[in-house]
Amino acid sequence: MIHFNNTYSKLPDKFFEKVSPASFSEPELILFNEKLADSLGIHYQNKSDRELASIFSGQQILEGSEPLAMAYAGFQFGHPVAQLGDGRAHYLGEVNGFDLQLKGSGQTRFSRRGDGRSALGPVLREYIVSEAMHVLGVPTTRALCAVSTGEEVYRQYGPEPGGVFTRVADSHIRVGTFQYFMFQQDLDGIKTLLDYTIKRHYPELKESKSKAIDILKALTHKQSDLIAKWSSFGFIHGVMNTDNFSLAGITIDYGPCAFMDEFRFHKVFSSIDERGRYSFFNQTTIAKWNILRLADCLLPLIDENQEMAIKKVEEEVINLFDLFEYKRVESLSKKLGLNHDENLVHMFLTYLEKESLDFTLAFRNLSKEDDSFFPKTSEYNEFINLWKSKAPDTTELLNINPLYIPRNHQIQRAIDMAYEGDYSHFKKMIQVLENPFSDQDEYREFSLAPKEGQKVRQTFCGT
Ligand code: AMP
Ligand code: MG
Repeated sequence: MIHFNNTYSKLPDKFFEKVSPASFSEPELILFNEKLADSLGIHYQNKSDRELASIFSGQQILEGSEPLAMAYAGFQFGHPVAQLGDGRAHYLGEVNGFDLQLKGSGQTRFSRRGDGRSALGPVLREYIVSEAMHVLGVPTTRALCAVSTGEEVYRQYGPEPGGVFTRVADSHIRVGTFQYFMFQQDLDGIKTLLDYTIKRHYPELKESKSKAIDILKALTHKQSDLIAKWSSFGFIHGVMNTDNFSLAGITIDYGPCAFMDEFRFHKVFSSIDERGRYSFFNQTTIAKWNILRLADCLLPLIDENQEMAIKKVEEEVINLFDLFEYKRVESLSKKLGLNHDENLVHMFLTYLEKESLDFTLAFRNLSKEDDSFFPKTSEYNEFINLWKSKAPDTTELLNINPLYIPRNHQIQRAIDMAYEGDYSHFKKMIQVLENPFSDQDEYREFSLAPKEGQKVRQTFCGT
């Protein structure tokens, strides 16, 4: 069914724990992403829903699959944790160069006090959001399958139905994976991981004489593209800890993430982000910080002399960091039909914040040149006059500024209904988000900003 061609499992044993997923009594299929399966060459056609549920909850281990939990460390909210690792996830193997991983599939050596399970809510949330991100053109892990386990898990507010999510990733290598070996002062481990990462994600660096510096530069390019895309859709990741920061430059580990409704520069949803470390506008700053944490791990490979190594990082990597702000301004300018106009972007966003306007709908209405949406304040008039004087190219704006994003209140509704056994809203939402740029009149509700009573003010890790 799946032709596995595994590379991670061939790394030294210290990279992981070989461990099987837990058993679940009644796994049931909720949704299987056939298009994604097709693109990966997975042959599911002769499998019943029951078999798919069994495979993608880890009950049936396919030939060639080598279940394991990856070791990693991380800085969580700035604080070092020498060992995290997959505490509720199982890598199954690689297909077509992508990792297949189950999430919520049971305990491992890295579970610490956790139960290794996932509630169904986070499974559905990750499914919806990661697929929406993909359609919007944002590099991301993908959703292959969602299964309910038939068991209850106990979370903050009591029992919830359990679920297992299958994701597909370019890889699960994180800055935290390097940090795991740094904390153990295992330079060999770092070297092995660096070579592996280059082979998998940066083959152009294979012959480089300065691999460690070059990968930091290459990652800076990838991550600055990624954060610029997040910014252009009002996406807030919520937990940009180094263990959730991908070496492949993809969005990974959807937890308390959210797309903004009303615009605020420093919007935060996550209940645990009390100081706004991972606020919307701080995401560029944090990405740079995370890249420097990778640099910490690589210093001994950059130069034997630590001072020299640091100097090289300053000159070659930190000097590139302006790319983060540059690309963010560029992607927001494009939403205005302009190339790079920091002043106009700032004027528009400041106006949105002041008037508490919906980020997505504001850009959409501007694209349609429908000014009925906008309160006619002096800031608005000033902006619109200056904007028009720049002769923006508005021809493509309806393909740049989406009408549909996965809104928090709709995700919440999909979860609430699913908890009552009704997956219709979840499935409808997935379908609507396949075409985020076209007006779909019958699905108008998904384009609307939340009413006062519908607003989701906080999101939770749900772990
Ligand atoms: P995350 O919130 O996904 O970034 O997870 C942070 C760390 O906590 C990772 O090491 C996870 O594997 C671990 N973790 C999260 N939830 C659970 C759980 N329910 N059981 C065991 N480990 C968990
Ligand atoms: Mg994580």
